[in-house]
Amino acid sequence: MNEIAAGFQRFSRDVFPTQAALFKKLATTHQPTALFIGCSDARVVPELITQTDPGELFVIRTAGNLVPPHGQGADGVAASIEYAVSVLGVADVIVCGHSACGAMTALASGSDLTGLPAVAGWLHHADASKARTDAGEHLAGPDRVAALVRDNVLAQLANLKTHPSVAKALVQQKLTLHGWVYDIGTGSAEMLDVDSGRFVALTS
Ligand SMILES: [Zn+2]
Repeated sequence: MNEIAAGFQRFSRDVFPTQAALFKKLATTHQPTALFIGCSDARVVPELITQTDPGELFVIRTAGNLVPPHGQGADGVAASIEYAVSVLGVADVIVCGHSACGAMTALASGSDLTGLPAVAGWLHHADASKARTDAGEHLAGPDRVAALVRDNVLAQLANLKTHPSVAKALVQQKLTLHGWVYDIGTGSAEMLDVDSGRFVALTS
């Protein structure tokens, strides 16, 4: 913990002054261009892997980058989506899965989660992801996890579309949805090609 507090002191003393103009502007404006929905995994840092500045990304991070569908009751994820899309008017939403995802590994391997009731309940938002993978090619081990990571991005994009704010912005052509998968070990990423439904190397 001391390291984290010391890091903040370094930020405040050394980093903040070098970007003082940006932070002064951000003190009174909040105009992110994209909503990034990623995993809580400590190794997947949205601003780092997209090289974005403070203020550019509105970020939601959940275990397994899961997006509960609309209508689940009071839900912080739904509120954040609605605010980003309807109030902040982001133009893009990225749902980003990643290699070696603990949530997807647990699902792919059928881990016993009886001691983790909150995790088990949350992972039901990936039931459709798992169903997609189970219906596909028979895979095992890391290949099965990799397939599930991709199927999960597809399933969460589908969940995202159930949110009225997203559905409305899509009809109005004010919003574009993107599916990404980030590879921790190589620093590379794939994106969903909407035409083919396949993941291809990420290009801008
Ligand atoms: Zn993860």
